[in-house]
Amino acid sequence: MRRQVCVLAVLAVSMCMFNLSAAFAREAKRVVILHSFGRDFRPWGQYAKSIREQLDRLSPWHLEIQDHSLVSARFPNDNPEAAFVAYLDALNAGHPPDLIVSIGAPAANFVQRNRTNLFPGVPMVLTAVERRRVDLANLSPQDSVVAVAHDFPRSFSTILELLPATKRIVVVNGASPNELVWRREIQKDADLFQGKVEFLWYDGMSFGAILQVCAALPPDSAIFWHLMNVDATGVAYEGDRALQALHEVANAPIFSYDDGFFGQEVVGGPMHSVDEISRLTATVAVRLLGGEEPAQVRPAAVGFAPAKFDWRQLQRWGIAESRLPPGSEVLFREPGVWERYRSQILMIAAVFLVQAGLISGLLHERRRRRVAEIESRQRIAELARANRYSAVGELTSSIAHELNQPLGSILTNAETAELLLQAASPDITELRQIVADIRRDDQRASEVIRRLRSMLKKTPFEVEEIGLNHLVREAIDLVQAVADGRRVSLMYQPVLMNLLVRGDPIQLQQVVINLIINAIDAICEVEAAKREVSVMTLRNGNEAELRISDTGPGINVSDLANIFDPFFTTKPQGMGMGLAIVKTIVEAHGGSISAANLPAGGALFAVRLPIIS
Ligand code: ADP
Repeated sequence: MRRQVCVLAVLAVSMCMFNLSAAFAREAKRVVILHSFGRDFRPWGQYAKSIREQLDRLSPWHLEIQDHSLVSARFPNDNPEAAFVAYLDALNAGHPPDLIVSIGAPAANFVQRNRTNLFPGVPMVLTAVERRRVDLANLSPQDSVVAVAHDFPRSFSTILELLPATKRIVVVNGASPNELVWRREIQKDADLFQGKVEFLWYDGMSFGAILQVCAALPPDSAIFWHLMNVDATGVAYEGDRALQALHEVANAPIFSYDDGFFGQEVVGGPMHSVDEISRLTATVAVRLLGGEEPAQVRPAAVGFAPAKFDWRQLQRWGIAESRLPPGSEVLFREPGVWERYRSQILMIAAVFLVQAGLISGLLHERRRRRVAEIESRQRIAELARANRYSAVGELTSSIAHELNQPLGSILTNAETAELLLQAASPDITELRQIVADIRRDDQRASEVIRRLRSMLKKTPFEVEEIGLNHLVREAIDLVQAVADGRRVSLMYQPVLMNLLVRGDPIQLQQVVINLIINAIDAICEVEAAKREVSVMTLRNGNEAELRISDTGPGINVSDLANIFDPFFTTKPQGMGMGLAIVKTIVEAHGGSISAANLPAGGALFAVRLPIIS
């Protein structure tokens, strides 16, 4: 029982395998492709390649493809045809192909001529053949056709639209039987352009001679490339050699009718699309392989596809894109600077933007700083003025004293003058002297008032050249009476040279007054034996230096670091703003200030300002 089951299983497996291989054999199809001149003659070479690719894509079956070339099509001699048919027959003896595909007119003509002997029962598709080159009446029911329709008048019109100055069109065409048929056909279409443009034909010449002509064409010429399979001397040109050679020497733009020639040498225009026709051929082939009646599968002839142009050729011949027919496609556009260096350009632009942002940020910052500086100067000026008001309070006695003196003298002089005038013959000389004295005293009094007013004037920060020695002298004059009233002697030792500095005279005078009053305050704090404030000026390199020292108790060492801070004070009634204002004013003048204690006791303040010259 067990044995029987095994035998049955082996039988079942072998039957399955047999069925599979039978199915596989049934699924493989054999296709014979017949080429017109050879596998690599343009444009049919491109059609063959593209049809094979499309067949591979569309066929549900595995395809075995044989390629055969109709070498005899190159020559006007039908004799070898019978032998070629016999050869194909022998090659496929007992195992005929499932489909024959002929590519190009010579192949189509060959199969039509030999149809009765050439696998008569096998379906056939004639493709890449111009409809004028197919004998439609003699197609067998087994034949299908994918025909194309050339439209040379449209090609010529396009040339004239693109280059309206064109005077002549040179038609490059070979001399094989097929090419000579086309010479006559093109001639008929060219005749439609009589009077508009001249057509030149060189098919009686070798291709070498045609190249020479095309290298030296007169201006306003265009070349229409038809075919160059075989030239007048019988030389065959495979691949793209001939078109390339023409392109290298031609001094006029080359046009054509089939995009099998497009891609390097040809300007473009409305042309047949190898892709479109190959796709259609493959579709028809698959339908025939699937068993459809060939006579029922005969699509209408395919015309030109929408125009397309080679950008490089348009550039070379100066053809503006505005002249192209509407809907044209422009290919092979070389990338411009933007496309080529896009990322670099973007990077540089980004750097520029960041830089511009930084610069504008910095400019904005600078402006803000300026505004802030101006504001702070105004504040300083206001603060300094407030500080001066308080200084004037301290100076009141000094001012009163300074005013009293000239006013008293004036009064005395006036009284003396009155007495003199009562005399019978007053002494004019003496009177004159008295009047002069009165005037001098009056000037002294008004000078005191001027100084006082200028101290209290609300003036903006005004920069002018100042003689430092004189400025210090005036400040000392103002505080002299204060010093006198507090029994402090004020010594002034100006350097014997002009110390020119740049600044606001009122503010600098305030510096001097503040420092002197502080020194007087310090001396009065203790019962010093020697009560003296010494003021001196000197030149220290490029700086003018003002030193104010006193015989007071000096500054507490722990306070030395803070005395210039706002609101730092050791005085019961002090505000602690005097030195802060002094420091701000000095620094606003580009100078510096320092404080120290003298070895013999007392404090020393040194102000340094840049000298102008
Ligand atoms: P204020 O006079 O209102 O106190 P200042 O800013 O002018 O404010 O002075 C700050 C402090 O510096 C004073 O309180 C004092 O302690 C100290 N100071 C200033 N000048 C002298 C000086 N010549 N000798 C000793 N101490 C001084």
